[in-house]
Amino acid sequence: MHMVNFQLDEMQEMLRELAHEFAVDEIRPKAEHWDATSTYPKETIQAAHEMGLLNLHIPEAYGGPGLGSMEDVIVNEELAWGDPGFATAAYATALACAPIITGATNEQKDIWLRKVAEEGALASYAVTEPGAGSDLAACKTHAVRDGDDYVINGAKMWITGAGHADFFFVLAKTDIDAGYRGMSGFIVESDSDGFSLGKKETNMGQRCSDTRSMTFDDVRVPAANLIGGSESGGWMNAMKAFDMSRPNIAAHATGLARAAYEHALRYSGERMSFGKPLHRHQAIQFMLADMKTKIEASRMLTWKSAAESDAGLRNTESAAHAKRFAADTAMEVSTDAVQVFGGYGYSEEYPVAQLMRAAKVMQIYEGSSQVQRMIIGREITKDL
Ligand SMILES: Cc1cc2nc3c(=O)[nH]c(=O)nc-3n(C[C@H](O)[C@H](O)[C@H](O)COP(=O)(O)OP(=O)(O)OC[C@H]3O[C@@H](n4cnc5c(N)ncnc54)[C@H](O)[C@@H]3O)c2cc1C
Repeated sequence: MHMVNFQLDEMQEMLRELAHEFAVDEIRPKAEHWDATSTYPKETIQAAHEMGLLNLHIPEAYGGPGLGSMEDVIVNEELAWGDPGFATAAYATALACAPIITGATNEQKDIWLRKVAEEGALASYAVTEPGAGSDLAACKTHAVRDGDDYVINGAKMWITGAGHADFFFVLAKTDIDAGYRGMSGFIVESDSDGFSLGKKETNMGQRCSDTRSMTFDDVRVPAANLIGGSESGGWMNAMKAFDMSRPNIAAHATGLARAAYEHALRYSGERMSFGKPLHRHQAIQFMLADMKTKIEASRMLTWKSAAESDAGLRNTESAAHAKRFAADTAMEVSTDAVQVFGGYGYSEEYPVAQLMRAAKVMQIYEGSSQVQRMIIGREITKDL
């Protein structure tokens, strides 16, 4: 009989340790400086890539490590434990690769995945628009076939890593009247004529991550860059890519929550109030207990969605549970961690304020917590 096993195997444990050591040595010491100065951690992203900690889902056939979703979430929890802003910045390329893995032709994979795996190229996932986020079917960017090219016009908004990307996955309408059915995916190179970037946004948190708008003004893209080689499959493919990426965002949220909890646990043993350490007051101890339960539950939901993906099962519902619950947990746990620190928690001199600011976006990007509930709602009622 097949048993559910919550133990990591030897290779997964080694990978976890490698990612953890990288987080301790290379990420944590720089995280505060990156956030305070809005510095993009390019060299550390390159170092993580060289250590084999990024883009684990790129198949061996295209130069990647060819590991599973479980390995990916194990590593991503550790990177975000190091610094959630770093994890977001480093994951942008993996997110852009997801719709290439799920929907591109073998020739396209050989070009673009290999560029990432072997040359360390950076990429971004450009789907959201100024007027269309949750309701992506309302997107206006469009691509018109002209000879051997497509000509793209429109604008994208909030694109992670845009200022450093070598190429973009771009969702555009090839049939403007067909709603989400009229969308197609394209690869657009950052040096294309007519392509321009906005300034780096000043965000609430995760400030080392680069977020920008972009405009397409008659940008010519070879027809060979149409993902999958045929029009109109873009929406379904972008959704499949989310099933691959959302467990990793859930892992980031779990890592963030774990970091905040550990800071709070340590501080609660050091800080005295009314003659005893904070954690000897039941109100504080119960808060810590609830934080830990939510983190354990986030990790289990994350692992389940990753394990389903590795087993070749459709994980749309489990990935939405994991992403929604872990993102809300990151927000709740980091807010409670600030509470445990009291006035010191409100100061940027202590690490939990940065984590609380970093958590908020996890309930917004990659499909907001409301959108995850819409997905779960659709999944659980579709056969009724
Ligand atoms: C830092 C950052 C990085 C990002 N990186 C990327 C990236 O790399 N690539 C990319 O393509 N996008 C990216 N995004 C965009 C992100 O995915 C969107 O912001 C998100 O999908 C929400 O879209 P919106 O901002 O247009 O909000 P809206 O869709 O306008 O939603 C506003 C609010 O209303 C809620 N809402 C909307 N519709 C409903 C409904 N039907 N029922 C209930 N509630 C609803 C939403 O949950 C949200 O709380 C990023 C955003 C941020 C802030």
